[in-house]
Amino acid sequence: MEVLSKSKIIALLSDEKNEQQLWQQADKVRQENVGDEIHLRGLIEFSNICRNNCLYCGIRKGNRFALRYRMSEEELILTVKKASQMGFKTVVLQSGEDLYYDQARFCRIIEAIKKFDIAVTLSIGERTYEEYKSFREAGADRYLMRIETTDKDLYHKLDPNMSWQHRYECLLMIKELGYELGSGIMVGLPEQSIESIAEDLLFLREIGVDMAGIGPFIPHPQTPLAKEQGGTLALSLRTMAVMRLLMPDINIPATTAMESLHPEGRIQALQAGANVVMPNVNSSEYMKLYELYPNKPIEGFSQSDIAKKIENIGRTIGKGYGSHKHKE
Ligand code: SF4
Repeated sequence: MEVLSKSKIIALLSDEKNEQQLWQQADKVRQENVGDEIHLRGLIEFSNICRNNCLYCGIRKGNRFALRYRMSEEELILTVKKASQMGFKTVVLQSGEDLYYDQARFCRIIEAIKKFDIAVTLSIGERTYEEYKSFREAGADRYLMRIETTDKDLYHKLDPNMSWQHRYECLLMIKELGYELGSGIMVGLPEQSIESIAEDLLFLREIGVDMAGIGPFIPHPQTPLAKEQGGTLALSLRTMAVMRLLMPDINIPATTAMESLHPEGRIQALQAGANVVMPNVNSSEYMKLYELYPNKPIEGFSQSDIAKKIENIGRTIGKGYGSHKHKE
């Protein structure tokens, strides 16, 4: 398939008038390449403690209003067990960069939960090569870490004390170790240009992601970016749709942040190129506390609700692990 040029991507991202056609085209490419199944991943946010201070994030270290929690090892394993009993074939274990979960503790957890016959995705941030390697050997299948933006100056402004280069190297290590690699970006960051978003999409293609998450930036009131404008659902959907055109056979989630901007945001995303949904399986107490951005939908997972919505748009729930299947 012909790779879209940067100028073509910029044109598609900028074209508000013809966005419906873009979404339909992405939907068609999605159907031809990954079919009608929607893969559900059970999202477990197990700690909102983080050593970092990303300016856009509600659980950044400097937010003294955030109430912190951390599941114990036992509680986390029990929550995964619950997700497995609910029918999930994949769980995503997500947290801030909380080093309480050190190499040994995390390996124990992974080994324990693999007994539930479940694909394990980690989303716990930047770690050492040794740690990534040991988590993989313990049975972790996938790793999710957004690059957020490829504009290095912007990245360093937004993520003080972090290094874009280091994050990039982490993504390469994860890929080399044989994980399925998930990454992604935020749309609508302050000072972010359409050209920069186009470069982000080409970057995700270049590093060969197996999953790409595109979410709008939504300013959190307890962060330094509280007064910024934030991203729109329409531009996020256009970005996601172009991602589908660029990488027809990867997994693309309908992100929860899209639902924060519109009650039907996730359904719209599923009709504009997305094929994955990550319902939160935590208790509503924890869901409220894991507030990366405001107006996050606090909903308990109900298999029947999701199934109904999926059925209403003529799609089915995938029964397998929902891995990235490469097409020639
Ligand atoms: S975005 Fe991630 S690394 Fe940055 S402060 Fe939030 S949880 Fe921590």
